[in-house]
Amino acid sequence: MPESFDKHLFDELHSLLDDRARAEDFELGLYSKDGSGMEGRPSIVCLPVSTEEVQQIVNICRRYGRPFIARGSGTGLAGGAVPVGDPVVIATAKMNRIIEVDVENRIAWVEPGVLNLDLTTQLKPLGLHFAPDPSSQQVCSIGGNVANNSGGPHCLAYGVTSAHVAAIEVVLPNGTITLLGDLSAEPVGYDLRGLFIGSEGTMGVATKIAVRLTQNPPEVRTLLLDFSDVRDGAAAVSAIIAEGLIPAALEMMDHRAIEMVEAFVNAGYPTEADAVLLVELDGLPGGVESGVEIVRRVAEAHHVGKVRVAADEAERALLWKGRKNAFGAVARIKPDYYLHDTVVPRGKLVEVLEKVYRIADAHDLIAINVFHAGDGNLHPILAYDSREPGVQERVHAAGRAIVTASIEAGGVLSGEHGIGLEKRDYMGLLFTEHDMRTQDLVREAFDPDGLANPLKVLPSGSRCSDSFGQHVPEGAWV
Ligand SMILES: Cc1cc2nc3c(=O)[nH]c(=O)nc-3n(C[C@H](O)[C@H](O)[C@H](O)COP(=O)(O)OP(=O)(O)OC[C@H]3O[C@@H](n4cnc5c(N)ncnc54)[C@H](O)[C@@H]3O)c2cc1C
Repeated sequence: MPESFDKHLFDELHSLLDDRARAEDFELGLYSKDGSGMEGRPSIVCLPVSTEEVQQIVNICRRYGRPFIARGSGTGLAGGAVPVGDPVVIATAKMNRIIEVDVENRIAWVEPGVLNLDLTTQLKPLGLHFAPDPSSQQVCSIGGNVANNSGGPHCLAYGVTSAHVAAIEVVLPNGTITLLGDLSAEPVGYDLRGLFIGSEGTMGVATKIAVRLTQNPPEVRTLLLDFSDVRDGAAAVSAIIAEGLIPAALEMMDHRAIEMVEAFVNAGYPTEADAVLLVELDGLPGGVESGVEIVRRVAEAHHVGKVRVAADEAERALLWKGRKNAFGAVARIKPDYYLHDTVVPRGKLVEVLEKVYRIADAHDLIAINVFHAGDGNLHPILAYDSREPGVQERVHAAGRAIVTASIEAGGVLSGEHGIGLEKRDYMGLLFTEHDMRTQDLVREAFDPDGLANPLKVLPSGSRCSDSFGQHVPEGAWV
């Protein structure tokens, strides 16, 4: 049992949830991390099955002055679901029903624990899908997507999660159940739905979500373009968009990523290339074909090597398999990696990429780049071996230098992974004290007692961070 274990609190939660309230060491260990490599420790883990149970858990926590933290699948990469401040974890894994699919109005009501890809798979016979497609889509939850306002390769044309959520039922930190947003096309009043999306669990727990459904496109073409100079590839990205063409996806991989992925999936990626672009166009057949010609013309003007157009669905799936398995493929090079997430203006891609390589070299790390180039969302992977003494400090220092370089280039802290614990102390690189105080006032309006996922998003020294007299534990990096 953790030091913070409160038997009375546990007994109340246990009488509500029976064996779905847990405090065994093994169980707490399972919920102590997310995908970020940071680590905390919950005091108790709860697995509710309904909105009413979530409400009662929140009310019990309030009575005990105990913080709580919503958790989906724990794939977040910024430490958002890492339990710090001895919280009760509210895990949504058992709230995984697709409640209703309204084909006519293109809306589905889902519980927050539904997995992203499960929703799209269920919708397939209806010719519909949920557009946000994080590379973790096989395992991440819709609740986590909402809380992080997640993106994915196809969000370039379709928009990130906030564009695909009409309404959210939320248990607010004061225990009230409320509905943010509605199903109308032009809701009136403040957009509290939009405010909640991306709030990383600091404004309450999403218990039902009305997601907008997207028609599967009648025609899809996927192209792989290779370049012997990464600068040509990056310039082609901007030039494609400057033509007025917004591909469904526009992804880039550097030389190391190509070698690593090809050895892993054998998709026929050209291992001698300095960079490849994976471009997907979708829509009505005529428009797609003319899009292919525009991409071909622009790529040729930027010294493309080969333009490979997937001949059928199997080849298209193979090309995507390479991109979607890139992170797993890192294991061929090093046992550990740290994945960063920043955004830079498209025109600065090459400049920042070159800085990323220099920063990695200076810290004796290997940088690999696989990223959503169309929206300037960089994902430098720093590959390393955690058994090397002092390597965590080098990884951490390189990460900070990459964030700083991105901001200096006119970019921002995060494209899609959120701020969580990882970047909360970097907020001051982008925002003034006044900006952060204003953000905290908004948070306070939702959570005046600072119980919802404390110690996240806003830096140390803000009201929420101070509430529990606790700071991010030293050595939170594992
Ligand atoms: C290999 C890999 C690839 C990835 N690729 C992408 C990508 O392409 N694009 C992208 O955007 N992200 C990506 N991610 C990051 C991650 O998968 C997403 O952020 C995802 O949306 C997190 O969902 P989750 O269910 O795992 O949430 P968790 O990690 O469990 O939680 C994330 C945050 O959401 C909050 N939260 C969870 N559920 C709720 C709820 N019901 N109500 C309120 N708050 C809640 C948590 O408190 C936490 O702050 C990737 C991660 C991995 C490991």
